[in-house]
Amino acid sequence: MKRTLAALFLTLLLCSCGAPREPESVQFFAMDTLMTITCTEEDLDAVHHAMREIARLDALLSRTREESAVSALNRGETVEDAELAALLTRAAKLCKATGGAFDVTVAPVVSAWGFTADEYRVPTQEEITALLTHVGAGGIGSDGEVTTLAEGVSVDLGGIGKGYASDCAARVFKEENVSGALAALGGNIYAHGTKSDGSPWRVAVRDPFDGSAYVGALSLTDAFAVTSGGYERYFESGGKTYHHIIDPATGYPAESGLASVTVVCGEGLLADALSTALYVMGEAKAIEFYRTFEEPFDMILVTQDGRVVLTEGAAALWDTSVAEHSYQYETINKL
Ligand code: AMP
Ligand code: MG
Repeated sequence: MKRTLAALFLTLLLCSCGAPREPESVQFFAMDTLMTITCTEEDLDAVHHAMREIARLDALLSRTREESAVSALNRGETVEDAELAALLTRAAKLCKATGGAFDVTVAPVVSAWGFTADEYRVPTQEEITALLTHVGAGGIGSDGEVTTLAEGVSVDLGGIGKGYASDCAARVFKEENVSGALAALGGNIYAHGTKSDGSPWRVAVRDPFDGSAYVGALSLTDAFAVTSGGYERYFESGGKTYHHIIDPATGYPAESGLASVTVVCGEGLLADALSTALYVMGEAKAIEFYRTFEEPFDMILVTQDGRVVLTEGAAALWDTSVAEHSYQYETINKL
């Protein structure tokens, strides 16, 4: 799928049938991802407004569109844009908070593995070592309005952009009094309000080892749920699989013992950044982070050895009726 088509909106009225409260599904392609927003017919205008907001963000944040502000930054230009400055300042703060596991300046390493242009390759250790000298959030300079990157530094907002877009969709839904909508921006979900029958939205979490199965489902109202997993984008070379979530400490795809991480919280940007970071950290560090991080969140870790680890808040929203395979579930608390 090519990533330039942000403005190509395809409205699919999947279940219209003329009934006013039947859910409608609006599908469109943005941020290199197929996105779907489900709502009732009376909220379609607001949903189209949210889609335009997401298209605007795609044009601002894309690394592959030459005219975007992020591309200008990555070419070494100084960019004056308060929204981008705020986003990068927050990204730098989250880099520090996660001990560098989430780092938007990992961009040149992501590109060296071919994930930017979809031209996959295994870089040499020398190449990775050289590129890592340009990785580190200290390379982002911003005064709140104007942003400049240090020499050789570039940024990739692929690990945070869709989450931020879901926050913008949430703002539009609130401003326009949408009663209920489910925005699925790839693996980034925002559940606004309830379904038209008053029940919470149900969001199933995929089995990372079986694309047609689910490990369970969350019941969500006014909450964000974001999943990161190596299965989402990868290639194979020499009998080995290489995925798109890079450990900034090594420059290699993270091999942390986790197969997927889902984060549930009240902010899309945070859920998105944390799902990427916790995937890099692995189970033990992720649990420690959950217990010490200042902002509340819940998580579901699926480990490479097939366990499903839920924080107590996630366990309270969880049901396993969609799970066709049997899994070992474990619940952890804050202590
Ligand atoms: P996600 O799917 O949200 O986990 O984000 C993965 C995407 O974020 C990748 O496709 C890269 O564009 C970028 N990325 C990869 N590794 C990292 C990392 N450690 N920190 C921040 N962004 C990353
Ligand atoms: Mg992410």
